[in-house]
Amino acid sequence: MPLVDALNTHKDAVLVTHWRAKMLLRHYDLAMPFWLVDEHGWKLELEDRTLEFVFTPYAHFPGAFVTYDHASKVMFSSDLFGGLTKEFCLFAKDTSYLEAMKPFHQHYMPSNEILQFAVTEMERYPMKMIAPQHGSIIPQPLIQTCIDYLKGLDCGLYMLLGRESDIQKLSRFNETLKKITRTMMVCRDFKEIAQGLLDIISGEIEATSLSFHVRDAQNQVLYFHSRNRYRGVSYEMPEVISTWLDNPQSNDQPYVFAHDKTHDKHYIFVPLNAQHGLHDEESSINTVVQIELAQKQPSEPHLKRLLEQMMLPLQVAIEREMIFRDMDKKREEIYARAIRDPLTGLFTRVYMQDMMQTLLEQDDRNKNKNISAVMMDIDHFKRVNDTYGHPQGDIVLKKIAACLLENCRSGDIPVRFGGEEFITFCTGTAEHNSNRFAERLRASIESLSWPYPMTEEAITASFGVALRIDYESLDDLIQRTDDALYQAKRGGRNRVITADDQQEHQHR
Ligand code: GH3
Ligand code: MG
Ligand code: MG
Repeated sequence: MPLVDALNTHKDAVLVTHWRAKMLLRHYDLAMPFWLVDEHGWKLELEDRTLEFVFTPYAHFPGAFVTYDHASKVMFSSDLFGGLTKEFCLFAKDTSYLEAMKPFHQHYMPSNEILQFAVTEMERYPMKMIAPQHGSIIPQPLIQTCIDYLKGLDCGLYMLLGRESDIQKLSRFNETLKKITRTMMVCRDFKEIAQGLLDIISGEIEATSLSFHVRDAQNQVLYFHSRNRYRGVSYEMPEVISTWLDNPQSNDQPYVFAHDKTHDKHYIFVPLNAQHGLHDEESSINTVVQIELAQKQPSEPHLKRLLEQMMLPLQVAIEREMIFRDMDKKREEIYARAIRDPLTGLFTRVYMQDMMQTLLEQDDRNKNKNISAVMMDIDHFKRVNDTYGHPQGDIVLKKIAACLLENCRSGDIPVRFGGEEFITFCTGTAEHNSNRFAERLRASIESLSWPYPMTEEAITASFGVALRIDYESLDDLIQRTDDALYQAKRGGRNRVITADDQQEHQHR
């Protein structure tokens, strides 16, 4: 730096720069005076022109800025639009210059956000041309294309793999990673994701299939393979894998080769510690990836590198699948809870509404079938509760519900309609059939025996039966059944009354 001072013939020269560069140059003993852009509102008024400076920091120079000349409308872009071309070319001719810019950012620039910030700041100025400090000048017609290209460029490739120096390979890997990410975001289907991962692996080594052995939070082992369309079936695990899953400490290698002598097949097994479901406490292996090979063994350094790259996508893929499976299971449980009454195991009214809607519509289309409803209410149930207590009352409810289920046919829909009221919908039966069903049920309930202290006393129920009239609504059908039940209660209880539909023919 002192030599630079000595060579400078302009004794009034001032160095226009940013504080970060000043710090550096002073450190190396440059004596020249500084004029700092950041201390002057990022603007320099000269006799014939105004220069404006835009702060565009990036990895290999945190103090970088670009300079815009208002008079000529030229943007002096430092490295940002710099390119590496095979032959020197003063002006960039076409979009081939995009490729020349790429190596500057894809590897140096830590993130696309930083690059986007920089070019968006520059974009605010009307530019006639961009003059980078190396590469070619970008003429006006190419400017927007170049800006858009940089905005969408993937950056930070060097972070993908520390020791990989083959830039082409890294770029290819980056492309595949993007594909995986896209697939994972767009596809719900694990099959497609697994297929995508296999494609990538077989692009590097001769792999013919990819499968996963996973132990879930319930300790069940699932097998995902193209043969079961990656649905994940529970199965008996091969010993080599179960040993691994059982004693994770027994093997701390990143992978092992295996030879299946019976079928003469070669495999690589890769253990993963996927954090799925409730498994996340400690670092135990719960997934083993199995890669089937077309040939014996790929070169080890090559394989090692590939697995280093694939580990995360494989892990994320299986974690995601297990989370989806977990969610599906929970959804089913919630649905089951919504359709089944927890005390009696009979259907709930919520389910009845859903189910009967469909059933009535079918019935309207098919005149050969009939729907009937049988409503039942336990007689003097309050007395049971009052005399023996609510818990004993619950036992009675459960037992009578079980008796109802025993007397139902498979197509019937028995519903817990209220506290101790039940309604059963029967299809395809004539009225006298549902009448017989109610009568049978009534007799069964009457003959049930009860545990101490309710022994000896018979508990009975009353019944109302109604056959659905053409196009009758669910509410109307239930109402008529309930009316019949009321008649049964009034008539002395422990009996079946069938609704007389003669006066009800106005129903539509
Ligand atoms: P009736 O012969 O006229 O039907 O007389 P009843 O005493 O059975 O009268 P009602 O049907 O009105 O009585 C319903 C009783 O059922 C009131 C309520 O305390 C009881 N109950 C409702 N749900 C439950 C339940 O889940 N468990 C228990 N133990 N009792 C219930
Ligand atoms: Mg009641
Ligand atoms: Mg009752």
